[in-house]
Amino acid sequence: MEFRSFYNGKFSIGKLARLRRFCLELTQTRKISVLENWRDKNILFRIDSNKKIQSWRNDVTEKKADLEIIDIKPRGYCKGVVQALHLVKRTREENPEAVISILGKIVHNRYITEALNYYKIRTIDVPGLTREELLQYVDQGILILSAHGTSSKVVQKAKAKGLTVIDAVCNDVVSTHDIIGQALAEDKQIVFIGKNQHPETEAILQNFPRTHLIIKEADVDKLNLDSTKDILVTNQTTLSVLEIQNIIRALLDRFPHAEVNNEICGATRVRQEAIIKQADLDALIVVGDPKSNNTAMLAQIGLEHGIEHVVRIESLEDLILDEFKQGWRVGITSGASTPTYLTEMVSNYLKEVDLANPQIKPEIDLTKIL
Ligand code: SF4
Repeated sequence: MEFRSFYNGKFSIGKLARLRRFCLELTQTRKISVLENWRDKNILFRIDSNKKIQSWRNDVTEKKADLEIIDIKPRGYCKGVVQALHLVKRTREENPEAVISILGKIVHNRYITEALNYYKIRTIDVPGLTREELLQYVDQGILILSAHGTSSKVVQKAKAKGLTVIDAVCNDVVSTHDIIGQALAEDKQIVFIGKNQHPETEAILQNFPRTHLIIKEADVDKLNLDSTKDILVTNQTTLSVLEIQNIIRALLDRFPHAEVNNEICGATRVRQEAIIKQADLDALIVVGDPKSNNTAMLAQIGLEHGIEHVVRIESLEDLILDEFKQGWRVGITSGASTPTYLTEMVSNYLKEVDLANPQIKPEIDLTKIL
């Protein structure tokens, strides 16, 4: 059970101290945990037992929230992103003076890139250039490769330039490379469903040039495969679970004997399924970078699931309150590369927002991103 109350005026120091003492007593004697924001004088009780809360509420005025906020879980950082960021931070700690560069974005999130700059770790990313082309901008020091995977050709070139290479590739991406390598060794034809120019797809195509890339359902008709040979269908780890079904169905209609190995990773799948499980949402907010594919897929899933208002924002700064109406049920989710701090800023702000007279948005603190 959850009880929430707001006090619109100011607490006197004496009253605040008494209230604080009262809450502490409750937590110690009645198994009640208190989540609080004393600075803003907003107090939230969560009651873990069946016992009733005492009536300190006489002193406060309850204000009904303008929006009902649903924190969709799971959301945000996946294990691959956590591991990649951990590796980057450890590399800086162990090499405080070294020049450290990341080839492309370590994960797709602008705020993470900015936070890394703060630690003097530069991200080499020029729109439209491949990982191989980006290598021209790195001549010394340590080179970190992103969670999306990098081709062995790029790794070899980097080493030939005298760079120390550290690979932050996610294990789930490695698994897709292994499956394709094994299938090719068995002389199978590979059909890979992926996004054009995405680094994960780029690495697959460079490592396995005989792969046939499918971007959308219409591409199935254009496939030119040998009908006497086996076919393995696999895919990028961060696609939409709904969209890929249609492509796979079209492939199986044309090539009924094809073997399908769906490699959408667990983190992507459960974040998308958590949206599909939601009912009666008036709006969905997806927090994440515009270039993050798994973030884009969460928004797409929301639309395909029939949610009328799907809003993509990078952070609270982008939120336009005019898009929301009093009393709406609003779900909040975020891509696997979105810092928890940014998502919680949005959620906390909207839980208390006064739509008619909105509070000033807090500023983003880059030291809390990583
Ligand atoms: S989204 Fe999936 S594949 Fe990508 S880093 Fe996270 S766990 Fe790995």
